[in-house]
Amino acid sequence: MSICQGNRLNVDLTNSEIGREKTPDNGIGARTWNSVTLLRELEPGIDPLGPDNILCIATGPLAGSSMIATCRFIASAKSPLTGYLGDSGARGFFAPELRWSGHDQIVFTGVSEKWVYLSIENDRVEIRDAAHLVGKDITETTLTLQEELNDPDLQVAAIGPAGENLVRYSIISCNLARAAGRTGMGAVMGSKKLKAIVVRGDQPVRPADPERFGNACRQLQSDLEGHREFEPRRRYGTTMIMDRLAEMGVLPAYHYRSTEFKDLEHVNGEALRRDHVVKEKSCFNCNVHCSRYNITRYNEGEGPEYEAQAAYTVKCGNADLELAVGVSNTVNRLGLDCITAGEVIAWLMECRHEGIITDADIDGIDLSWGSPDALIRLPEMIARREGI
Ligand code: SF4
Repeated sequence: MSICQGNRLNVDLTNSEIGREKTPDNGIGARTWNSVTLLRELEPGIDPLGPDNILCIATGPLAGSSMIATCRFIASAKSPLTGYLGDSGARGFFAPELRWSGHDQIVFTGVSEKWVYLSIENDRVEIRDAAHLVGKDITETTLTLQEELNDPDLQVAAIGPAGENLVRYSIISCNLARAAGRTGMGAVMGSKKLKAIVVRGDQPVRPADPERFGNACRQLQSDLEGHREFEPRRRYGTTMIMDRLAEMGVLPAYHYRSTEFKDLEHVNGEALRRDHVVKEKSCFNCNVHCSRYNITRYNEGEGPEYEAQAAYTVKCGNADLELAVGVSNTVNRLGLDCITAGEVIAWLMECRHEGIITDADIDGIDLSWGSPDALIRLPEMIARREGI
């Protein structure tokens, strides 16, 4: 039941050259495609932030089809964070659009002389100037490109100031807050001076046997809706994990110093849904609708998932959920991985608690547990690489 289109786009950023080649129609997924590409084409020992790293962005054979939740792209390269194979995935609407443009994989090599973005509109692929986007966060970059190209449905994958500044845990984000967050793929994109990728496509994915494929889609949909986790996942997304970890006695409170948090009921998934969520959101072709749009006194945005919610509440000893949600929105906009950024802030708070560092070491920022000063100012400093 093949539905592969099998086109790989090669983008040589050093020489501003674009090529296209067919890929074998063997049905393997995005992560495997990227790993095989890196295994075959990446030289050993290269600097992950140097010109020899290769950044691969791929979708799987089902992406953009009528199969439920087939919406993920994977970004892979040698990781600047670990020095090993890095890869990270994001859902949303970017991957289906890439597929509809007739491409399964984009392989970026080299480094551009100046900041650029890649524009894909079906077969028409161009490297364009991005000087006006430098310094903009992910939301600003996305909205600017959609506005200037006069297309509110344009799919944009972008980096923020963190990626531009080569923070080793920066992200590539699509649909404002769907992040390929882990292993520093945003820094690799930033090292290539590639600010964004925009894509539009109108070539539908056609299964070889539409009837059998349609039956398989309906069966999966029905199995999913009948699953006992369907309703909790729809209501709370991953934020239901907070209470479950507390029940199991493994809540990461105060940077793992405790497994208990007395204000848990004020910062858990129920509190988030009750107090800050204004709208449920979904990825392409998924009826779980597990993501949520929030409005806080600081800003607005999508999420948080469990990891960011826990990172900026219990892990940092903060009982103010609205502050945590606002910080999560800021971290997403700056293009930082919310998990690692939260870990770094909580670790700094623990270092201060243990007397290893003082507030004076970090520009006088109050680093006590739950400090709003630290939670608001540190993400900006990390993304702009200011202070220690
Ligand atoms: S809405 Fe939730 S469950 Fe559905 S694809 Fe997106 S992240 Fe996954």
